[in-house]
Amino acid sequence: MNILLLGSGGREHALAWKLSQSSKCSKLFIAPGNAGTAQCGTNVAISATDFDAIKKFCDSNNVEMIVVGPEDPLVKGVYDYFKTNSSSISVIGPSHEGAKLEGSKAYAKAFMKRHNIPTAAYAEFDANNYQDGVTYLKNHSLPIVLKADGLAAGKGVLICQSHEEALAEFEQMIQQSKFGDASKKVVVEAFLDGIELSMFALTDGKNYVLLPEAKDYKRIGEGDTGLNTGGMGAVSPVPFADATFMKKVTDTIIKPTIDGLYKDNITYKGFVFFGLIKVGNDPFVIEYNCRMGDPETEVVMPRLKNDLVDLFIATQNGTLNSQKIEHDSRVACTVVAVSGGYPGDYKKGFEIKGLGGKTVSGDTMVFHAGTAAQKDKVVTAGGRVLCATSYGDSVSDAINKSKQTLADIEFDGMYFRKDIGYEFM
Ligand code: ATP
Repeated sequence: MNILLLGSGGREHALAWKLSQSSKCSKLFIAPGNAGTAQCGTNVAISATDFDAIKKFCDSNNVEMIVVGPEDPLVKGVYDYFKTNSSSISVIGPSHEGAKLEGSKAYAKAFMKRHNIPTAAYAEFDANNYQDGVTYLKNHSLPIVLKADGLAAGKGVLICQSHEEALAEFEQMIQQSKFGDASKKVVVEAFLDGIELSMFALTDGKNYVLLPEAKDYKRIGEGDTGLNTGGMGAVSPVPFADATFMKKVTDTIIKPTIDGLYKDNITYKGFVFFGLIKVGNDPFVIEYNCRMGDPETEVVMPRLKNDLVDLFIATQNGTLNSQKIEHDSRVACTVVAVSGGYPGDYKKGFEIKGLGGKTVSGDTMVFHAGTAAQKDKVVTAGGRVLCATSYGDSVSDAINKSKQTLADIEFDGMYFRKDIGYEFM
């Protein structure tokens, strides 16, 4: 089967690497891809949201399956587009309605409330009930979490330590369109104090399989300090996610979510990302995403032993109940190397030296994120540039291998955190 993967980050390189190992994958195309995905298949210069161009390409290259990496095409309705316009191409991902679990925080909160899924207490406000919101905020305990309803490139969540700050931000978001249309509506949420982890299910809309869990590190600085980023590293498995905790997660969150999608008649054939927080011994949902996480995919795919194409075929056919997930028992950790200045302004186009031209070397895989091929060189093309994932007997063993690999690679301004997984060493 010919497969087209949409996206261009480290997540897509990890997915492309995994898909290319399947005997069921005849030809793999990646649109638009990066210099790393070009090692696993053929990059195609089409935007992941140009559905007409994607269809034209699929029709002339006998592509039967589209796998969607990022949220943008999903929230814009790529599943529905192909459902309507093609009978021969299936899309692995949720419908436009299902993607609202990520595309609208108010929608996700209402879904959780309806299906009795544990999450922080909340209320939603817009210009019509703005004054009610002001009163609600004044009476709310601190800290207060404000969330722009729509997608805001990971910047739409504010944790306010005072009422003054919360009121000012609330005004900015609703009255001054701080995040454009995304903050026309705001979710005000109670703060949950705990430790976070990410879980991933693949569902056919009725059945599901659970992939290995992971923990990511969002802050730019060591010891989880400084600005938020797209993710600086990840580890899997997560030591505190023991069997008792995982049973609670499955019984109170995963199963009710998949059953809820089915009961609500929401078409969903793809990944569900559960952003969870463990408060005391209990799990709560912080957020849903309608796709895999990045950089979590870079540790989840290496720990998944199943053939990914088999899982996708079962997803498409509604037979995921026939699949049994097998984990690699080793630890996998990834360390992300970023451009100098990221997550603020940074320059691109610097040559990356010491890559060696292949994804896997010994126990380490170098997944490309923001890279581009330029003649015979590979250059930086984004904030997050490379992810060095390693297997190990322990977190420290895996992290040391990744750090060793990154020490042999260089580009102008390169930076990476040396303390990924620090609390598990
Ligand atoms: P992402 O960029 O991961 O997609 P997002 O912008 O969609 O994030 P959330 O994941 O909902 O937003 O929140 C971002 C971060 O803010 C969370 O990872 C968590 O650390 C923190 N956070 C969100 N809601 C809460 C809460 N109710 N209590 C405590 N922390 C929270």
